[in-house]
Amino acid sequence: APFQVVDVHDLLDATLVMFKAKIPAEVRLVREYDHQLPPIPAYAAELNQVWTNLIDNALGAMGDRGVLTVRTSRADDHLVVEVADTGPGIPAEIRPRIFEPFFTTKPVGAGTGLGLDISYRIVVHKHHGDIRVESAPGATVFRVLLPLTAGPA
Ligand code: ADP
Ligand code: MG
Repeated sequence: APFQVVDVHDLLDATLVMFKAKIPAEVRLVREYDHQLPPIPAYAAELNQVWTNLIDNALGAMGDRGVLTVRTSRADDHLVVEVADTGPGIPAEIRPRIFEPFFTTKPVGAGTGLGLDISYRIVVHKHHGDIRVESAPGATVFRVLLPLTAGPA
């Protein structure tokens, strides 16, 4: 599909709707959207796949309770989407490997280990953006940066 000019908040909401039935009662969803942000050129379906992967990981990490935060902001010439969870965090020794294809710590059958690999390729290669992670016990944030101006390849 060609890229379109999209409001990232619409994409995030569309993805969150898909998760609605899967969010446990004691997981709180917090949306902090900066509605001043302009629409950006993007591959909508691909970005929805990124949000799906990040939210799936966040919910999986938290289990029954916690806070899932989806936040947007602006940093220089980039739109920033953050998906944050209050799960156990990503151990420092595996952090360098989480974007590798087939890297997973989940039981056989539960995870393919492809979510972050695919997300990285969509964000970095298709949108010329970046995806970064910061993690400590109780606070993991995946931060996706998307160019506000230059269109994707
Ligand atoms: P999968 O979800 O199939 O395991 P991913 O590529 O989505 O594959 O993630 C790779 C690994 O990165 C996960 O198995 C997990 O160890 C780690 N990970 C990703 N997101 C989180 C998170 N929010 N909290 C803790 N660990 C995470
Ligand atoms: Mg995953």
